[in-house]
Amino acid sequence: MNIIGIDFEDWFHPHLIKKHLTNEKKIPRIIDGIDKILELLRKTDTIATFFVVGELIEFRPEILDKILKNDHEIAFHSMYHDSLTESNEEKFNIEIEKFAKLTGKRSKGFRAPSFSLNYSTSWAINVLEKNDYEYDSSIVPAKTSMYGITNAQKEPYRISSEIIEKNNPSAKIIEYPLAVTNILGKKIPSCGGFYLRTLPMKVSKDTIKRYESNNVPATYYVHSWELTPELMPDISLPKKDHFITFHNIRKTFDRMNEILQNFEFTSFEKYQKSL
Ligand SMILES: [Zn+2]
Repeated sequence: MNIIGIDFEDWFHPHLIKKHLTNEKKIPRIIDGIDKILELLRKTDTIATFFVVGELIEFRPEILDKILKNDHEIAFHSMYHDSLTESNEEKFNIEIEKFAKLTGKRSKGFRAPSFSLNYSTSWAINVLEKNDYEYDSSIVPAKTSMYGITNAQKEPYRISSEIIEKNNPSAKIIEYPLAVTNILGKKIPSCGGFYLRTLPMKVSKDTIKRYESNNVPATYYVHSWELTPELMPDISLPKKDHFITFHNIRKTFDRMNEILQNFEFTSFEKYQKSL
C-alpha cells in the first residue's frame, strides 16, 4: 500500500510564483477545482490526505466539509504557505493553533511548504509534538536545487528535531519521506508533482513497484493546481521558474489518474492504522 497527499493550495502559493508577485490581487481560483479532484479520487477508489493551506479554509469553509464528507483526511500545510525558513517556533505555533480552530483539531499531520524542513527549521518537529501531531511528510531523501536531505532514510521513521534523517526510537512523530529513485547512479525524487510531470511514466511506475516489492510505502504528492491547470492563471515567470512550475502541467491529471488506477494508494492516517 502506498500513500497519497494532495497539497491543496491556490495559484499564488507556490514559492516560485509567490516570490515574483508584487501587487497582484490574491483572489483564490484553484479552490474551485476541488470537485474535480474529489471526482478523480472517487473514480479511482482512493482515500487521500489533503494538506491544506489554512487561509483557504478561512476563505471558503465548505472545502473542509467536502474533504471530510468524502472520507478524506485533512492535514496542515501552513496557514499562508510561508517556508519554514521564514518562520520561527512561536509563529508556527500560532499558525498551528489557528488551523486547529478552523478544523476542529482534526489535523494529525504536517507537510512543510516547499519541503522546507531541514536542520535549521527542525524546531518545527517540537511544535508538532506539542500540538499532538502524529506524523510529518516533509523530507525528500535526495538533494535538489530547492530542498532535500540526501541521506535521509527511505522507510518511514521516528523523527526528532535533533535527528531528522533517521530513526530516533524515543521520538513521537512518524516521518513519511517522499519516494525517490536512482537514475544512472544518482538519487532523484520520484514522488509525484514536478517529477510525475517530467520523468517518463515508466520511471514513475518502476519507482512504485520497487517500493512495493520492498514492502515500503511509496509516499506521493500532487498539487491541487497541477490537477486543475485550466484554473491556473498564465503568469509570466523567469524561464527556469516557469519550467519548474508549468512544465507538462496539462499532463498531470491523466498521469495521476493512471498511477491511481494501477497502484493502491491511501491516506496517511489510514496507512498508520493498517500497521
Ligand atoms: Zn505547497
